[in-house]
Amino acid sequence: MYDKDELKQKLLKIDGRGYKAYKDIQGIYSFDKGFSLNISHVQSDPFASPSKLCARVQQQCAKFPKELYLNKSRKIAIEDYLTRVFAHNINKYTSGNRGTGKSGMIAIDRCGQEILERTSMVINDDYVEARFVIGLPARGRRILGKQAIQMLIDEIPQIVEHSLYYENINKEEAMEWVLLAEDQDYIREKLDEKDLIAFIGNGSILPRESGISDRPLKAEKAVKFKSPDSFEVTFDTPNHGRVKGMGIPKGITLIVGGGYHGKSTLLNAIEKGCYNHIKNDGREFVISVSDSVKIRAEDGRRVEKVDISPFINNLPHGQDTACFSSEDASGSTSQAANIMEALEMGAKLLLMDEDTSATNFMIRDVRMQELVSKDKEPITPFIDKVRQLYKDCGVSTVMVIGGSGDYFDVADHVIMMDEYLPKDVTERAKEIAENHKTNRREEGGTKFGNIKLRIPLASGFNPYKGRKVKVKAKGLHTIMFGRENIDLQNIEQLVDVSQTCAIGDIILYALQKYINDRNTLREIVEKVDGDIERNGLEIISPFPKGHPGEYARPRKYEIAAAINRIRSLKIK
Ligand code: ADP
Ligand code: MG
Repeated sequence: MYDKDELKQKLLKIDGRGYKAYKDIQGIYSFDKGFSLNISHVQSDPFASPSKLCARVQQQCAKFPKELYLNKSRKIAIEDYLTRVFAHNINKYTSGNRGTGKSGMIAIDRCGQEILERTSMVINDDYVEARFVIGLPARGRRILGKQAIQMLIDEIPQIVEHSLYYENINKEEAMEWVLLAEDQDYIREKLDEKDLIAFIGNGSILPRESGISDRPLKAEKAVKFKSPDSFEVTFDTPNHGRVKGMGIPKGITLIVGGGYHGKSTLLNAIEKGCYNHIKNDGREFVISVSDSVKIRAEDGRRVEKVDISPFINNLPHGQDTACFSSEDASGSTSQAANIMEALEMGAKLLLMDEDTSATNFMIRDVRMQELVSKDKEPITPFIDKVRQLYKDCGVSTVMVIGGSGDYFDVADHVIMMDEYLPKDVTERAKEIAENHKTNRREEGGTKFGNIKLRIPLASGFNPYKGRKVKVKAKGLHTIMFGRENIDLQNIEQLVDVSQTCAIGDIILYALQKYINDRNTLREIVEKVDGDIERNGLEIISPFPKGHPGEYARPRKYEIAAAINRIRSLKIK
């Protein structure tokens, strides 16, 4: 370990020289009060991916109390919190861009409304460590040594001083952060015991600020959520006392109501309820089971050997639907494939919205049954499968369906959104179903059907572009994988670009360890997930140098969804 003065000397010495000379500063430097700075990877020019640094403070000096990280919920939450504090202090204590390209930039992973497991911060009994990046400053390709000194010797220590020492952070807020996340996990764990698949706390604010902002709608504009009495349940949380709200039971639940009355908003909130949310998000107590998957039509996607025969049979030209492939799936076949792939991965809750579903997949009314006979219609509509799905496979469904009352026959519960407030209309819907028989014939047979586990072949993955492995997230919805782009536009429960980034490297990791023409897709993803659980998210990093500071943990479903969308994917 070097001393910080040696860092200063080195920077003075290379001032004005070519950018490559920055390589000399790689190494670990000790500062005051238990703080050491690891310059672990230096960028090759001012435009290249920025340099990677770790700031570590020993706990003897940092003094974070154990209560803040004594279990997994708390540890993830405090690491999230400190990442945000660090980001805030970057803004406060740096003077920003100075020079060419990324010169002068200091950045840590950006957190959104969710609290996710990340690699940007680590806290344990020994130390707290922030992993961040900087653009080492240059004019053209000439090193700006004095500017670098300002960044490394002045600004970064100030950021560290105000972020990584317990005495300098907002202690109450940090504790609140941690206790809230713990209660969210507590409720999620208790759902099953109460036979629920989702919970929406009274007082929640579900609508978002806009279509491009995930922040809550301003309180004065939003109607706060209030459970109908018949759906109200209570959780005795460890930290927030009794929390009341609407419990959605297992089974089949319809969300009905007039257009623009808040149906999709409720479903979207349930969809994101697999993640914890930060305080003041409005969805702090909107909690759903971890194994939920939003299902939608996704025409144009590729499908590789998925058994969609529970839903689709007798396609024109005798195409096999027990092993269905398409370069360009239709609305209905893509929706069927999305369901089967979710079930393959072990989903326990399907979420569907009529807004994004294929109509012919959802309903087939009696008149259409008369006109187009069953043997001319390949699709068995979801309405004839949804009960079997629950009965045979234990998979619940929550669906928004404002346009067809046929579903009253198959629903366990019907919730009507009325001016943004939920009403229990189950009884009324059942009565109506009694009085107005649809006379439609059930077309779903007696059993749901087979859920096939598929084995991906290693030869279907090519991460190379030329002679180099090239795997990289490009924004939230795209992964560059070798020569192709994996399109994740329709994966609605992918919420953070750092998850996308992790998924890319997870596929690479799986390719090295588990994709061997024997393991099923589910086994592969579960094995990787198990490795992450045991050894931390950073094990997926392919880089021997530098730190893996930009991952957030994706769910198994989003990992599988990405693999399923690789255009070159081959199934045994
Ligand atoms: P639906 O799916 O029933 O047609 P949406 O859920 O899309 O309706 O909601 C319609 C509009 O109402 C959206 O702009 C949404 O942000 C807003 N909205 C939804 N819920 C609330 C609420 N609780 N308070 C205020 N505005 C809301
Ligand atoms: Mg809608």
